[in-house]
Parts: sequence; structure tokens; C-alpha cells
Amino acid sequence: MKQVAADARKSDRVLGLVPTMGALHEGHFSLIRAAQKQCSPVVVSIFVNPKQFGPSEDFQKYPRTFEADRAALESLGIDYLFAPPPDEVYPPGFRTYVQVEGLSERLEGRSRPGHFRGVTTVVLKLLEIVQPRMAFFGRKDAQQARIIRQMASDLNLASEIVVCPIVRETDGLALSSRNRYLNEEDRRAASALYRSLDAVRREIAAGERDAARLLVALRRVIDAEPRVSLDYAELVGADSFEPVVSLRKVCYVLLAARVGGTRLIDNALIEQTGDTFDVTL
Ligand code: AMP
Repeated sequence: MKQVAADARKSDRVLGLVPTMGALHEGHFSLIRAAQKQCSPVVVSIFVNPKQFGPSEDFQKYPRTFEADRAALESLGIDYLFAPPPDEVYPPGFRTYVQVEGLSERLEGRSRPGHFRGVTTVVLKLLEIVQPRMAFFGRKDAQQARIIRQMASDLNLASEIVVCPIVRETDGLALSSRNRYLNEEDRRAASALYRSLDAVRREIAAGERDAARLLVALRRVIDAEPRVSLDYAELVGADSFEPVVSLRKVCYVLLAARVGGTRLIDNALIEQTGDTFDVTL
């Protein structure tokens, strides 16, 4: 992969990278299409990264659909699929990790200790192996995107980090490889995550600016759905990812919830223009 990528860069082409864990869906495909618009060639990586899963998490049962993924990437016209085996990424004796302090310990990081350390370590390795001009990530994982941007800046990486919009099902559920775990009833209940963010959007449109009251509106929707239990919901500044007491120029409402046995996350981006706040789900 290093050789192929080095050759591609030599010919002065704009190399793009889309890192994934496979079980590909429209969310991934949207990143790939964004990459194809701006880059050629495009490398897609598929690697279920053991270092970003906690000991009691779903690493073993994480969906692996390699043949279907490979066929989908071929029909999208992807130039290179990079799917290294785990013991090549982490050979015996591996002992170097990268950690973005502060940002990695909140929200997802608090619920999943060590998660972001695993993410940043593997993403740094992928960025170092491929050295793309641009690397594409989804806003679905807004905290992850923020942390990767910080790492790229702090470590003077040459890759531009591009963050793409969230792709949703018709009922609003954000596409995720983990949605495959949901049974029929859980799948129906899972739209509560989107509906809770939509409730926040409606409150903001009606003039509400107070974080606590916005989160009450969010919780009301989640609490009405017995199959869904909230892990966290916060309104945070887009740069610090620290809680804010009222709406700021750019902020996020972020939530994580369990639907049956499946943990899902979602968020909405809130941006101020003049006196109004635009909410993007
Ligand atoms: P994953 O395979 O879950 O690690 O995701 C790979 C990339 O796809 C990450 O940058 C995710 O943020 C992004 N992604 C996953 N689901 C979606 C979605 N529904 N919309 C947009 N991007 C997504």
C-alpha cells in the first residue's frame, strides 16, 4: 500500500482516503462519492480495528461483509481497497499509541474508555501509510472527526481532513453498520434518536436558546420510547466539545443511547447566522 500510494503521489495526482470498518452502507458510499469528486485515485480502507473496542464491546460480532463490500467498491469504481490483516497492522511487540488529550476523555470517550486512543492510533497509521492529500470522515461521528482534525493539526500531518454530512434512513435514523443488530421493534424505536434531535430543532426554531431546556425537550422524546435508554445527551461547543449553557455560534447536540442491546449515537449541528440558528440533522 505504501508503494502504490507513493507511486500515485509521484504522478502529481490528488490521492484520497476513506477509512472504514466495512459492512458498507450509504453513509460510507457518500464519503466515497465525495472523495471521487475531489480525488483520483481513491483508496478505501476496511479494517475492524481491535484497539478501539473495549473488552466488553462488540469486536467479535461486529458485522464483517467483505465480499459484498468488495463488490460494492468495484461497482463504485474505487481504485484501491486496502484491507490489511490485524497482525500486520499490530504485529507482536506493537507498543506505540497516539492520544488527543482532553477531547478524547469526554462523551464517547467517557462511555468507552480507550476508544479514541484506538481510533487515533489506527487513523494515524492509515494516514502515514497512504499519505493522502485528503481523508474523508462522516459527521455522524462528530467527536471522532473533531479529534482527528486536532491530531492532524498537532502532528503537522499533510492530509486535509474533510467531514461529510450524515446520511439517514427515511425515518431519520442515521445509517450505521450497527443498525444490522436491531430487530424489527428496536429498529422502529431507534428513530427516537432522530426525533429527539428534531424536537431540539423545533424548540430552537420557536426561540429557545437555553441548553438545559433544549435537553429537556430531547429527553422527553427518548423517555417516551421504552426500548431506548439514554447514555448521554449534551450541548457542546463545536471546538471544545465542552458543555455550553446556551447556544453558541457553532455547537452540537450529541447523544448516545441503547436500543435493546445496541448502542447508537447521533448528533445535530447548530450554526448561528445573524439572529437565527440553523440546525442540521
Ligand atoms: P465506520 O465504518 O463506522 O468506522 O465509519 C467509517 C466512516 O463513515 C466514518 O468516518 C463515519 O463517520 C462515516 N459514517 C458512518 N455512518 C455514516 C452516516 N450515516 N453518514 C455519514 N457518514 C457516516
